[in-house]
Amino acid sequence: SNRLSRPPPAQYGGRHTVTLIPGDGIGPELANHVRELFRFCCVPVDFEVVNVDSSMTSEDDINDAIMAIRRNGVALKGNIETNHNLPPSYKSRNNLLRTSLDLYANVMHCQSLPGVRTRHRNVDIMIIRENTEGEYSSLEHENVPGVVECLKIITKTKSLRIAEYAFRTARAKGRRRVTAVHKANIMKLGDGLFLECCKEVASGYPEIAFDSMIVDNTPCRPQQFDVMVMPNLYGNVVSNVCAGLVGGPGLVPGANYGEDYAVFETGTRNTGKSIANHNTANPTAMLLASCLLLDHLKLHAYAAMIRRGVLSTVSETRLHTADLGGQGSTSEVVQSIMNAVQSTGPRTLST
Ligand code: ADP
Ligand code: MG
Repeated sequence: SNRLSRPPPAQYGGRHTVTLIPGDGIGPELANHVRELFRFCCVPVDFEVVNVDSSMTSEDDINDAIMAIRRNGVALKGNIETNHNLPPSYKSRNNLLRTSLDLYANVMHCQSLPGVRTRHRNVDIMIIRENTEGEYSSLEHENVPGVVECLKIITKTKSLRIAEYAFRTARAKGRRRVTAVHKANIMKLGDGLFLECCKEVASGYPEIAFDSMIVDNTPCRPQQFDVMVMPNLYGNVVSNVCAGLVGGPGLVPGANYGEDYAVFETGTRNTGKSIANHNTANPTAMLLASCLLLDHLKLHAYAAMIRRGVLSTVSETRLHTADLGGQGSTSEVVQSIMNAVQSTGPRTLST
């Protein structure tokens, strides 16, 4: 089938309940701006807010959040800070959430925006990242003092699954080429298996070209890429570099899809602790993440309305926050988006 991920059905009255995890740093303020904008646009979504206290060592909070997502099927989240000084048995709450819900595909679309000054132009890349295994398997141990093994797990099942996801996405979005990113010259077995799985899946999509590239060759000429598929850690690095190429962590949204659940967040998953509560964060990435959420719920007209407002503010009014070299505050940007929505008319909407 062409289905990428199953959205939950609407409830009585056509409304949807979505889990909202504000997270740490700039997460809560950005979540409030999403709610403000949804209210303004009369979006038929009710948020169920679940706070996760990242200072807690018990897993109760994150388990409550996971349960809420199982119930609602979909969530919008801010990043949950991970304290690096905790013992290795303490798992990142973000990682726990993704693996528990089997959100195996991380998708990030990096596209140059008019009005955002960057060195590279015409970047338009879909990055598909395996989100549940690889280097993020949380399997580390010290065999003897001074010797650590950190296991990278690559399985045929999950590699075929993410490759299939990448090709289905390419087909659904009318893309022409998929590039598998790897380091199979060094990790002959692990990345070799990943690459073999991509090749196998590629043979079922004759209309889509397939090639591969060693990960260290990817930073040159970003315009050459269409869809990229890769294991977890390369995906982390490559997607953050790509976000940087088109304007940084404040701009690009991200999505995590599984068979049954979907979780939306900023593409680079930053906490933004140092700029929290200063009214200076760029709200674009989180607002565009909320548009991906609306598309997932098939509320396409609402998604389009908000996305238009967000993009016209970035590209036309050029009211930019400090990360893009501007002097606008977060709330001024949100106000400009509401003005843009108002001028196109939220009430003329037909879904
Ligand atoms: P991490 O979550 O890995 O600690 P940070 O939160 O430190 O990363 O974010 C990395 C950088 O990106 C910081 O300089 C932060 O201020 C900046 N940043 C992240 N998100 C935004 C945003 N929405 N708007 C503006 N700057 C941002
Ligand atoms: Mg930080």
